[in-house]
Amino acid sequence: MQNQGISPGLRARVALEKHGFSFTHSLGQNFILDDDFLEEIALESGVGEGEAVLEIGPGPGLLTHHLASHCRKVLALEIDRKLEPVLSEVLEDVENAEVVFTDVMKCDLPTLLEERFPGEDVQVVANLPYYITADVIERLLTCGARIGSITVMVQREAAERIGAHLGSKNYCALAMLTQYYCDVEELMDVPPERFTPPPHVMSRLIRLNRRTDGPRATDEKLLQRLIRSAFRMRRKTLVNNLTGDFGVSREQAEELLLSQNLDLRIRGEALSVEQMTRLSNALGEMLLSRASG
Ligand code: SAM
Repeated sequence: MQNQGISPGLRARVALEKHGFSFTHSLGQNFILDDDFLEEIALESGVGEGEAVLEIGPGPGLLTHHLASHCRKVLALEIDRKLEPVLSEVLEDVENAEVVFTDVMKCDLPTLLEERFPGEDVQVVANLPYYITADVIERLLTCGARIGSITVMVQREAAERIGAHLGSKNYCALAMLTQYYCDVEELMDVPPERFTPPPHVMSRLIRLNRRTDGPRATDEKLLQRLIRSAFRMRRKTLVNNLTGDFGVSREQAEELLLSQNLDLRIRGEALSVEQMTRLSNALGEMLLSRASG
């Protein structure tokens, strides 16, 4: 217990120095080393006693340390093995934190979470590596794991896209997908000086809270495909998306749009999340009746 009485922040700085850690820019390694600020992030995440937390990219383990004091257990996934000695020291006396060295984009997340937290909802908290922000969020939303909320630090522009509404120039597939699953809450803007080393961009902490209201998709995979198809070529009409990507005839595509009171020349980007969900359900029914008839 050589670290007793030393603040986690100081412990992390000493450990990074002692182990000659060099930051890897391509892994998005911009760390937060301020205990008060990390405590604020942990509180903003709303993570409570008894809850299970998944952290992506613990870095030196300081946020992990703060989260662990608020919840039952933190499972942290880190890609960079160079951080192993640092994490061991920083988390030395934290019994409810486990670090697994793996790539969050390659591991089997639903299985890993079900093994560690069987039958439980998991709250995700992460200061995300910005190079994979969109991919990680999409993965968390669509992988089928039981995820209750996602509190993430992202580049401010990414936050603007994720929270963009119908009619905004930022409205995109990720916005529609995120807003199908979650309500988006903006928590705070964070300037570069808060990080070591400072990134060249502004950041924003957001929280995605799992939705239970609004129309639900009978086939979520189909809805995900439809959303991606609609935004891949934004200038295409929905009729063209449907005929090109879902194998329906022009007449069937038009029938679908008319059944939803949609203009035949409408583009996917002009639909609300609810309209897209209803359209996906109608498309699903059409594909099913075609397969069975
Ligand atoms: N949580 C720490 C903090 O707040 O100071 C570090 C955050 S830093 C922005 C991002 C972390 O994610 C780094 O530790 C990096 O090594 C890790 N990382 C990058 N790509 C990853 C991946 N594909 N899977 C898991 N971790 C990754």
